[in-house]
Amino acid sequence: MPELPEMEAWRRQLDEPVRAFPIVKAGPAHVATLKTFDPPLRALEGRRFAGARRRAKRLLFPTEDGELVLLVHLMTAGRLKYLRAGEKGPKTPAFRLEFEGGAQLVLSEARSKKRAGVWLLTPEQAKVELEHLGLEALGLGADALTEICSRESRRLHSLLRDQRVIAGIGRAWANEILHHARLSPYALAPELSREQVDRLAQSIDIELERGLELRERGANDKRTYRVHDKLHEPCYVCGTPIARVDFEEHTIYYCPECQTGGRVLKDRRLSRLLR
Ligand SMILES: [Zn+2]
Repeated sequence: MPELPEMEAWRRQLDEPVRAFPIVKAGPAHVATLKTFDPPLRALEGRRFAGARRRAKRLLFPTEDGELVLLVHLMTAGRLKYLRAGEKGPKTPAFRLEFEGGAQLVLSEARSKKRAGVWLLTPEQAKVELEHLGLEALGLGADALTEICSRESRRLHSLLRDQRVIAGIGRAWANEILHHARLSPYALAPELSREQVDRLAQSIDIELERGLELRERGANDKRTYRVHDKLHEPCYVCGTPIARVDFEEHTIYYCPECQTGGRVLKDRRLSRLLR
């Protein structure tokens, strides 16, 4: 699933083109993709976007007149693309906007089960839709993270991914960040020392910035990630083979030398069943 660096790179790419021309045709949209019906999609026609914004992993396109906001959540397999006039796009996109002059904004989804979503909202509705989200991960800072760690008695990997607490990090960047901070994915947040919390706050910014820079240059997953999905490949710090463990519904990648003091983490799903 695209996370903060991927979505921010996308946002920067879309910001100028989406405001270049007014919308002449909104839709069609797949019935499972469009999550709202009031205001109707055609209310966008004749209006112009003010640009592309982002909140956590969502993209927001407010109209220039301040009356409507188009919200897009790509989930795992959604792709949003700006097609210049005459440029070929997917045959049956899940959602489509056409701009004056022929450019298009299209959302496609690689799988048949539609998970990505599009919402057309008033600014008030958008506020409600987004209010459950926690603080933006990028630029979170040590003070906010100290406060979060003291009240959330959770394991770090799951805490970093909880969008209601810290917004924008998913399983891939949680792996990269925890490795960079040399912290165990299973460490309990309230048990971190002040120095460890500072390090984690720094690693969040360093890794998300690194990801954003790479994604803006078009780097693929293989080149962007150094720990995530790198089972048995040498750790970029110490050369130890990267290990993998199943935790909740996710797979965690980590370096046993850098992060867990040589200990191999046990599969917590399995140990729960055996208890
Ligand atoms: Zn290592």
